[in-house]
Amino acid sequence: MDFRLTEELQQVEEMSRNLARKKFAPEAGEIDERSRYPGENMRLLSELGLLGMLFPAEYGGSEAGPVAYNIALREVAGGCASTAVGMAVTNMVGEAIFRHGTEEQRRRYLPLLAGGKGAGAFALTEPGAGSDAGGISTVALEDGDAFLLSGAKSFITNGGCACVTIVMARTRKSPRRIGAFLVPAGAPGLLVGKQERKLGLKGSDTAELVFEECRVPKSAMLGEAGDGLKIALSTLDGGRIGIASQAIGIARASLSTATGYARDRNQFGGAIAGFQAIQWMIADAATELDAAQLLVYRAASLKAKGRPYTREASMAKIFASEAGNRACLQAVQILGGYGYIREYPVERHLRDIKVSTIYEGTSEIQRLVISRSLTR
Ligand SMILES: Cc1cc2nc3c(=O)[nH]c(=O)nc-3n(C[C@H](O)[C@H](O)[C@H](O)COP(=O)(O)OP(=O)(O)OC[C@H]3O[C@@H](n4cnc5c(N)ncnc54)[C@H](O)[C@@H]3O)c2cc1C
Repeated sequence: MDFRLTEELQQVEEMSRNLARKKFAPEAGEIDERSRYPGENMRLLSELGLLGMLFPAEYGGSEAGPVAYNIALREVAGGCASTAVGMAVTNMVGEAIFRHGTEEQRRRYLPLLAGGKGAGAFALTEPGAGSDAGGISTVALEDGDAFLLSGAKSFITNGGCACVTIVMARTRKSPRRIGAFLVPAGAPGLLVGKQERKLGLKGSDTAELVFEECRVPKSAMLGEAGDGLKIALSTLDGGRIGIASQAIGIARASLSTATGYARDRNQFGGAIAGFQAIQWMIADAATELDAAQLLVYRAASLKAKGRPYTREASMAKIFASEAGNRACLQAVQILGGYGYIREYPVERHLRDIKVSTIYEGTSEIQRLVISRSLTR
């Protein structure tokens, strides 16, 4: 067992860290303040091959693999969490199209995603179906050589800026059957609804999508008929490792601000870093984030080797998102009043990280996944 990164992985880490620290971090506060979509950051990511990390070069990707991808995502999240979530969903959608798509689907969409011509979006959640993904009510009805999609999807990341959205819809009422469909931007009957106003990740595009008899050809189906839920859940397995990485990146950035502050801030005649209460907060947070990182590496390595990793991805997601939330709270505490105001980034980190225990399956759902896999 060797805990060092290979030379190649170190290069990915250094490149993405430089990009995040030099280009993304300086703008992150303003992106948050103005709820501005970080289009320029997405362009830079595509130039460096960071939007197609999970499919091969023949489709425009960089095929860096899950471990490299999670390292890059973590570093990007440390600079700008809103950028990281756009990057994450675009990579996730690209991978799903590569894995389940036909040659025609791959050639049509993958170069667009990797080339930054538009983001990828993944539309599963609905107003009436979140954790209960099988309970969706959007339908896809056959109409000659096409499907007509009708329904609404909520909270869709990249919903307004995607060049392609994977949409899960019911193709049959009973027995329930769900399909996955590739819906391009501008498809007739696809309406981008309101942009959500959020606690954090304010620069990310989170939109409602409405389908009014949205017509897509039969060739838009991803995978086989009835495979939609399976495709969605397996796609989310990989996505969950990514959420864990985002949480670690955000929390590390917060902890780094807090440790610097603790060294510089004097009270009672000395640096607050000299107080055991502060030292313990820093030590606990750093230890938990390292443990989270090891869980991420394990899950990503299993995925890279083509071995089952559903349980390990859920463990990484719960642990990293919950430890990351604790670390961000502690960072605010260490900065005292300065932690609560916008002069320092830790209040933004706290707002940005909260959703990591919610999206792509809440912590409660991750616990269900883990316990089911252990008790079945
Ligand atoms: C910023 C943001 C971006 C998002 N991006 C996307 C996206 O790109 N695509 C997409 O499809 N969705 C997206 N989502 C939706 C997200 O995945 C859902 O919000 C999440 O899965 C939870 O669903 P829900 O909000 O309907 O909550 P609910 O499912 O209604 O859950 C409410 C509460 O009940 C708990 N609960 C539910 N069922 C159980 C159970 N069986 N046992 C114990 N507790 C339970 C939950 O854990 C939660 O605490 C996004 C959400 C946000 C906030």
